[in-house]
Amino acid sequence: MRGIRVWARLLGLLCAVVEDVFLDDEAVVVCVRPRARERGRCPLCRRRCPREDCGDGRRRWRALDLGTIKAFVEAEAPRVNCKRHGVIVAAVPWARHDSWFTRGFEDQCAWLAVNTSATAVAQLMRTTWRAVGGICRRVADEARAQRDLLAGLKRLGFDEISVRKGQSYLTVVVDHDSGRLVWAAPGRDRKTVEKFLDLLGEERCAQVELVSCDMAEWITRPVAERCPNAEVCLDPFHVIKLATDALDEIRREVWNEARKAGETALAKDLKGARFALWKNPERLTVRQKLKLARIKQVNDPLYRAYLLSQQLRPIYRVPYEQATELLDAWLSWAQRCRLKPFVKLARTIRAQRPGIEAAIKNKLSNARVEQINTQIRLITRRGFGYHSQEAVIALAMLNLGGLCPPLPGR
Ligand SMILES: [Zn+2]
Repeated sequence: MRGIRVWARLLGLLCAVVEDVFLDDEAVVVCVRPRARERGRCPLCRRRCPREDCGDGRRRWRALDLGTIKAFVEAEAPRVNCKRHGVIVAAVPWARHDSWFTRGFEDQCAWLAVNTSATAVAQLMRTTWRAVGGICRRVADEARAQRDLLAGLKRLGFDEISVRKGQSYLTVVVDHDSGRLVWAAPGRDRKTVEKFLDLLGEERCAQVELVSCDMAEWITRPVAERCPNAEVCLDPFHVIKLATDALDEIRREVWNEARKAGETALAKDLKGARFALWKNPERLTVRQKLKLARIKQVNDPLYRAYLLSQQLRPIYRVPYEQATELLDAWLSWAQRCRLKPFVKLARTIRAQRPGIEAAIKNKLSNARVEQINTQIRLITRRGFGYHSQEAVIALAMLNLGGLCPPLPGR
């Protein structure tokens, strides 16, 4: 009798009684039954329910290997009749609902999926990528149901991420205070953002104080409508990028003109100046400085565009009051500069000014969200074999949402 209990400990079956152990086709099969108080429960609501029938009879769950050999748990899988959930296969304490694996096996798979490559998990656990994807989904769903990731959120960051080279997109929400991913879903549109706000609910929406994002209206509009106390902070990086884009537009124009006019030397110079124009002035090499000096000599519009794009950066480096003054000065300069892309940019910045100033005042950027995005990109690349978007989201939530289970038995 004592010998048989060892098997339960070995497989982490705490709420089960071992009835028999045998070797079957190079695998250990441990026959068990749930302890009395665990029997006849609905897997969804855990309520005790009357027995319906014996279901499909006895079945097996894959358990953690025992040494070098595969192991299975075998038991009856009767069906119960739940008042709320109808006729359903009864819960077993050693496995999640609808799974062919034990909890220990799934927890270990999820832990490995977070910490190593898809190939390594599949080989080590002797299973398929697809199965690991399904396991991650079940483990993440259970963890999310047990822990409220949306409680007490005050400062949020929204962003989109393209998965599989722009074929599909995810919307992600990050909590600035914990640095954790709190939500991710397929799609990048208003509806997706609204789905998150629905989940958050009216009361918790009202508690949100700051939201960082780029200028996308599909984020800013619903947030403005549903989170009455949230100040929207536009990400500095995106604002600076607009200036860099405007500068590049002018560089291309000037280059095309020089090429058409047959000034090949100038055209070549301008093409080579691209990186010098983009760089932070402090980081320029001597060669790049010379290139800029030459542009100043021979091409006034491009040099002015360069200065305009550079002068936008300091607003993020000085205290708030000074920043608003700088921004005023920049706007009036840009409006009079007769460079079309910058006149247009001045109009955009004027329209978006509250969000730009809020970001400076609250010192909030999307940098943390970008970090999480980089990590999700790594996960998607690493987990290419997990096939479905849902598996990628589950893995991201386990990894970046702090939902990864501990290794079994530790
Ligand atoms: Zn139920």
